[in-house]
Amino acid sequence: MEAERLLEEAARRIATSKHCVALTGAGISTESGIPDFRGPKGLWRKYDPEDFTLRSFLSNPAKYWRLHLEIFAGLDRAKPNPAHFALAELERLGKLKCVITQNVDGLHQKAGSRHVVELHGNLGKARCLSCGREYPMGEVEGRVAGGENPPKCSCGGLLKPTVVFFEEPLPFEAFRKAEEEALKCDLMLVVGTSAVVYPAAELPYLAKFKFRPSSPLWFSSGLGEGKTAIIEVNMEATPLTGIADLSLFGKAGKILPRLVERVRSMLE
Ligand code: NAD
Repeated sequence: MEAERLLEEAARRIATSKHCVALTGAGISTESGIPDFRGPKGLWRKYDPEDFTLRSFLSNPAKYWRLHLEIFAGLDRAKPNPAHFALAELERLGKLKCVITQNVDGLHQKAGSRHVVELHGNLGKARCLSCGREYPMGEVEGRVAGGENPPKCSCGGLLKPTVVFFEEPLPFEAFRKAEEEALKCDLMLVVGTSAVVYPAAELPYLAKFKFRPSSPLWFSSGLGEGKTAIIEVNMEATPLTGIADLSLFGKAGKILPRLVERVRSMLE
């Protein structure tokens, strides 16, 4: 199907859906100037993922905080782009129940999305690993830049950003809510994720087949066509493309505003 007809068909499916949810990844924020991990200008071309494991943070927190300043300082000044605004508009139109995001940048909320499930926490704060006290990230980054590295709580405990590191479990309530939405939805819009970071990457499968691929029954369950439509928006094919009902290839900041505009006109 050529691009315009694909867009039209995607808009029709969203307009007629009963419970549409979005799953977003780092790719939705690249047009806000925040690099993703695995895209062409992704962070893994320059940095070692091993430095972002919980083990590595605990063994050398000063190294993490040095990298943090290099990569993430100023994230609080980043602005949502047209893709974030389009999803917020889809929620206002009553056609998007929630955004499940792997992102830690808070841009969906800044764009006006009200129902956001953050699977990997966010970089807005740092929390003491001893007493749990939280500090605004800007304040902690200022202390690190001023030479206090690693930064400590007033109780002497180590400060860690309120994000999920590799090897760390996901926040229980956020993942429970995401699974509930995946089981409930009849359409999942998957935007800007390479769909390789688990368990988040499992959600589109759970949505489509109402079944976990990690389940031992997966191969013998006779899944058929799947119950829920998956619409993928990405710059390139991903492991999800094979199960997606529609794949819209290109920049999310270009595609989503046009898609939502069409949904709006179909609802009028
Ligand atoms: P990823 O880096 O693995 O994949 C990004 C995907 O987005 C790629 O498939 C790429 O082709 C696509 N993409 C890049 N720019 C795009 C654009 N303009 N329009 C559409 N698609 C685009 O990211 P991921 O799948 O989210 O998973 C990795 C982890 O990255 C997550 O755990 C997340 O916490 C973390 N992360 C978050 C941020 C952020 O909060 N902005 C930034 C970097 C990494």
